[in-house]
Amino acid sequence: SYRKGGYHAVRLADQFAAGRYIAQRKLGWGQFSTVWLAYDTKTSSYVALKIQKSAAQFVQAALHEIDVLSSVADSDPSNSKFVIQLIDHFKHTGPNGQHLCMVLEFLGDSLLRLIRYNHYKGLPLNKVREICKCVLIGLDYLHTDLGIIHSDLKPENILLCSTIDPAKDPFRSEHSPILERPEGNANGGVTSLIEKRLKSRARKAVAKISGRRESMGGSGDVENSGRVDGIDVRCKIVDFGNACWADKHFAEEIQTRQYRAPEVILKAGYSFSVDMWSFACIAFELATGDMLFTPKDGQGFSEDEDHLALMMELLGKMARKIATGGALSKDFFDRHGDLKRIRRLKFFPLDKLLIDKYKFSVNDAQEFSEFLLPLFDFAPEKRPTARQCLQHPWLKCPNEEENESSVNVEMSNLKIKGGK
Ligand code: ATP
Ligand code: MG
Ligand code: MG
Repeated sequence: SYRKGGYHAVRLADQFAAGRYIAQRKLGWGQFSTVWLAYDTKTSSYVALKIQKSAAQFVQAALHEIDVLSSVADSDPSNSKFVIQLIDHFKHTGPNGQHLCMVLEFLGDSLLRLIRYNHYKGLPLNKVREICKCVLIGLDYLHTDLGIIHSDLKPENILLCSTIDPAKDPFRSEHSPILERPEGNANGGVTSLIEKRLKSRARKAVAKISGRRESMGGSGDVENSGRVDGIDVRCKIVDFGNACWADKHFAEEIQTRQYRAPEVILKAGYSFSVDMWSFACIAFELATGDMLFTPKDGQGFSEDEDHLALMMELLGKMARKIATGGALSKDFFDRHGDLKRIRRLKFFPLDKLLIDKYKFSVNDAQEFSEFLLPLFDFAPEKRPTARQCLQHPWLKCPNEEENESSVNVEMSNLKIKGGK
């Protein structure tokens, strides 16, 4: 991809924006860009420099992302909302063309890496709570204050706040490969458990987890020294390349497969609540280490139909009105609201899954399920908003009084603000 229209090749100490930014090392890459740690000589601080590919469609995409990020930053001058801040943007001309560059605040590892370094065993529930609070405050801000739907929420698009001083970070190897999920843990959450009971349906055995980046193409963060940065567990929502406004959509098919809401599959229209669905998928994944839904196509049925089946096996049957209410409903459901090609569903409720497979205590499983299940309502308008979700008892950590973390400070600010 380092050719005309593609990535811009960067070398250590390359200068950008007439010498203001100096490249230090590569932080990551995506389908659209490479991201570099850079030193900002004007403010004497470190920033993340996102350098977009130069072809017209990537320029277009960057202009869109800058547009969204500008409104995010403009309305949050104190930078307290758990959403990435755009600091600056400019054009940079190189051998492969003209690249739009975004200067972003420097953040740490993604939640995907946090899950990975925990060997896919799930994080302690108190950490999950802290992360959930940050993401919810971020979502409430995007949804309520700005009218923005992120529409690609997933663990790799949530970055921990960095606790490392980049100047002192000795790690400089910039091209080591990213880790993949360990072979031995190639199960697919609910899928694999139910799979065992589904021989009759002849659905494909759950393959290794490979579909994570299905809709977004490849992306990655550069391997560091093998510890997770940002252990204080504050985090921020990033990657607004696919964001839209509630009243201005750009695509019908949104979200990365495993985090996709049912109304998107059915093409029944969508709004802020698609982010709440993804949020709940992420919370489950943080707590268990497994993706909740990993649909696969099979003989006589599509990945979409399998996805709907998995949802119903976990959450119960979709009401007929909802099942048949989308532009694509006829592809999957008959007029009674039953799936056309996957006839026998094996129901397996969430609390039972948490207890049987993930060894949650009965109490933890029930409390966590009570938090998640309303977010998995098939009726999008019935899902709690981010703000409502922030009031849920599950988020109150057992010793909140003693624990004056910055997240809790943010929470109390929010309560004052929200209390009008
Ligand atoms: P995608 O294909 O996911 O849309 P993209 O080209 O839009 O990719 P991003 O997802 O924004 O790029 O960033 C690519 C990677 O760079 C991230 O996964 C992350 O590892 C790293 N990264 C991005 N922004 C920052 C930041 N502010 N601080 C530190 N690292 C970052
Ligand atoms: Mg990304
Ligand atoms: Mg992107």
